[in-house]
Amino acid sequence: MTADDLSHLRVAILAGNPQAGDLVRRDLTDNGITPAARVDRHLLLTETHQRQGRIADARLALGEASAAADAFNLPAGDPCRTALFAIRADLAVWDGHVEAVQVCTRYAEQARDLAQDLLRLAHATALRSVAIYHRDSCAEARRLLGILHERAIAAAAPTEALTVLAPMIERGLSAMAEGCRPGAARPPGPVPPLPGGVLKPSVADPDPDYLASRVRQHPARHTCAAFSTPGR
Ligand SMILES: [Zn+2]
Repeated sequence: MTADDLSHLRVAILAGNPQAGDLVRRDLTDNGITPAARVDRHLLLTETHQRQGRIADARLALGEASAAADAFNLPAGDPCRTALFAIRADLAVWDGHVEAVQVCTRYAEQARDLAQDLLRLAHATALRSVAIYHRDSCAEARRLLGILHERAIAAAAPTEALTVLAPMIERGLSAMAEGCRPGAARPPGPVPPLPGGVLKPSVADPDPDYLASRVRQHPARHTCAAFSTPGR
């Protein structure tokens, strides 16, 4: 199994190839697969099922990834573990899970404490704001994402690295604002992969529509003025 095999799989999944899940499962039957690659493939399967709208299968694959990471004693700061936290958080937001905010908080803690990755921490913080938008309070989510946006456009050390996230955060904020306009249409947009998962490992060049796509997955829990009009 080579890096080329993995890139072919990624292309197949992103192109929406209905056989993509079978291709990933075929890799898992290879006895020569390394422990890290096994965890990776289970995670890739999670992301594949998620894109296909098969959430129960995605959760099963995520459980397999977690069990494989434990079985192989992958260290707490291992990149596979960090990807696992990221994919779990993305799936929770995607699915509107009741504990999505807490799951995103755990991803942020992993990014900060174990991976010590400032860019990932910012990603996790942005994703957590989407969970808050859906579950708790649109106004609080927009406030928190706005703070992150200010940091991203400050372009001063030590936040300079965050400037790469600014377009993604801007579109996320716009999608939140759009969701807070009563009667506004919610056109389905593109569904980019999670930055920092297995399908798209880099967090440094996120698709600018990533966050907005997750915002649009579910309506907000409105605490904003626009939705507090009596009788609405
Ligand atoms: Zn609102």
